[in-house]
Amino acid sequence: MTQLPVLNLSSEATGTTRDGRRASLPPRHLADLDLAGRRAAVAELGEQAFRAGQVSAHYFGRLIRDPAEMTDLPARSRAAITDALLPKLLHPVRELATDSGTTRKTLWRLHDGSLVESVLMGYPDRVTVCVSSQAGCGMACPFCATGQAGLTRNLSTAEIVDQVVWFAGQAAQGALPGCPDRLSRVVFMGMGEPLANYNRVIAAVRRLTEPAPEGLGLSQRHITVSTVGLVPGIRRLTEEGLSVTLALSLHAPDDDLRDTLVPVNQRWKVAEVLDAAFEYAARTGRRVSIEYAMIRDVNDHPWRADLLGRLLSGRLAHVNLIPLNPTPGSKWDASPKPVEREFVRRLRAAGVATTVRDTRGREIDGACGQLAASDGGKVGERQDGLLARRANEETQ
Ligand code: SAH
Repeated sequence: MTQLPVLNLSSEATGTTRDGRRASLPPRHLADLDLAGRRAAVAELGEQAFRAGQVSAHYFGRLIRDPAEMTDLPARSRAAITDALLPKLLHPVRELATDSGTTRKTLWRLHDGSLVESVLMGYPDRVTVCVSSQAGCGMACPFCATGQAGLTRNLSTAEIVDQVVWFAGQAAQGALPGCPDRLSRVVFMGMGEPLANYNRVIAAVRRLTEPAPEGLGLSQRHITVSTVGLVPGIRRLTEEGLSVTLALSLHAPDDDLRDTLVPVNQRWKVAEVLDAAFEYAARTGRRVSIEYAMIRDVNDHPWRADLLGRLLSGRLAHVNLIPLNPTPGSKWDASPKPVEREFVRRLRAAGVATTVRDTRGREIDGACGQLAASDGGKVGERQDGLLARRANEETQ
């Protein structure tokens, strides 16, 4: 393969769009601020600062966002306080449900018209949400629908947090039959590259894990951050002192192929990215999840399984094989099952724990970002269940 996909890393760092315009962030929301910041914001309105704690307790603790239900706030200032701290960030455009209502996907429109997706997945013992960290993505992986569309902008901290809080509210209202009513896990496997929106993603992780009223009170260990392999971001994450799970989208064990499947590999090679991931695992004691989309005749050869096995053997890592979910018009397809089984067999023979994603969400199936790639009003026949599917293994 001679022509490599082009990657523009500089736009990732600045948060500007590909045509150079400054991306437009949404209005400030309480989830963008720590409690001190929220108190200051309330004081600026001429209200008593402790009101910030009350609103925060409604939002994070009781999962309430309707001002009418916040009866402990004085009626005369309720609207001013909630307007300042709880602007509506996510406007549902389309909601899809499958698996007897235990998989729910929402396409959101943001204040500037950008579209993002999130998915709620209920199991008998846990409830997981798969969130987006950017509108679009600048990483240009050729098999990913989001990658084809390019980056629109980074999401704000509150736009990320609110996807989770919204679904936590749905779960609490019993939206998932036969599942717990408490949302417990978050995977950053929706649209976008979380480590390209580093500060806001880390702030979102902190907000999601701080106890109410500061945050949502989830366990750090129940949060998975999935990255294309931005080595400086992984190294920075290693220094954060967080115990979130790291997932690395490897998809090929050799640089020749990975340069094409995951263009950021042109900058940070397989050996370097694995090194950073192993260092993260060593420092946190958390097993790294190696993501590997199985693409027929592209990356599913027995020798690649053996090479991957050698790279991972004896490491604090396991492999998640994801049957490719072809994007519309894609020349690629998922690997045949016998080929997949042989790949698994070889990895396990090398002593590497390996799982294959199930096909949950098949009825609303499609490829990453497909809902958002359509204009939301004219959604294609095949819907996106991949987010649910690929997040599934993370939550075991
Ligand atoms: N940017 C991050 C997170 C978002 S994508 C990352 O790359 O990890 C989450 C996972 O889904 C990644 O492993 C990604 O490579 C994979 N993925 C994207 N499109 C896919 C497709 N069409 N089929 C299978 N896996 C896909």
